[in-house]
Amino acid sequence: MRIVFNLYPDAKTKALTMSYDDGVASDRRLVEIFNKNGIKGTFHLNSSKLFGDGHIGINEIDKVYNGHEVSCHTLTHPFPNTMPRESLINEIYEDRKKLEEKAGYPVRGLSYPFGEYNQTVIDQFRALGIVYSRTTKSTNNYGVPEDFMQWHPTCHHSGDILKKLEYFKNPPKRVPNLMLFYIWGHSYEFNDNNNWELIEEFCEKAAGMEDVYYATNIEIYDYIVALRNLVFSVDCTIVYNPSGIPVWFTADGKKIKVEPNQTLKII
Ligand SMILES: [Zn+2]
Repeated sequence: MRIVFNLYPDAKTKALTMSYDDGVASDRRLVEIFNKNGIKGTFHLNSSKLFGDGHIGINEIDKVYNGHEVSCHTLTHPFPNTMPRESLINEIYEDRKKLEEKAGYPVRGLSYPFGEYNQTVIDQFRALGIVYSRTTKSTNNYGVPEDFMQWHPTCHHSGDILKKLEYFKNPPKRVPNLMLFYIWGHSYEFNDNNNWELIEEFCEKAAGMEDVYYATNIEIYDYIVALRNLVFSVDCTIVYNPSGIPVWFTADGKKIKVEPNQTLKII
């Protein structure tokens, strides 16, 4: 039996996710563009800056980002590598606490402020319940990360995303089993560079693809972890899904769905 982890929810083979930092006022316009096209994203916020003046207000994050993910970006946007551990802990603990109060769910994601991190930072953040963190290092490919605490995006939105979208839609045969197109940026850059049409065109062209799972960062994290946590019999004819979400994969080329907590004989 040849098992391949090559399917997202509903047996889709590709995923698209967006990741935007700093919680600035122009996120409103970006969310509208995402919503119009069924694109989903994650917004990494510094809760001490969310006063509504140039930023989104802390009291409106549940409404503004409804349908998307609210995620940490530390409390004050410091350089993490040059701080005492005690301050680092406060940066995450307080950010999570303030965001969770308004978002109404556990906030488990992060993007590193200034893209800066080292092993101590990773260890501290992980100890505080952070399960993934995005860097600013472009891979320029479409792979799923091995280590979600060093989640390198495909590219910044200035990285030729329309051309990359064409490749994503029509990839050559030898590509990763599960394709993931991950774009990051700041929505104020569209104001600064006067190029909102770039993201509008991208989202219009990326909308409605049947083989694409449109998801937030944490939805992708949770799905991939559930996929990796499947338990198989030694001959791979029985599978057990211990997670709380349904998981898909292929067995000898056949699409298989395993329900949460289900033990399934693969025929
Ligand atoms: Zn930032």
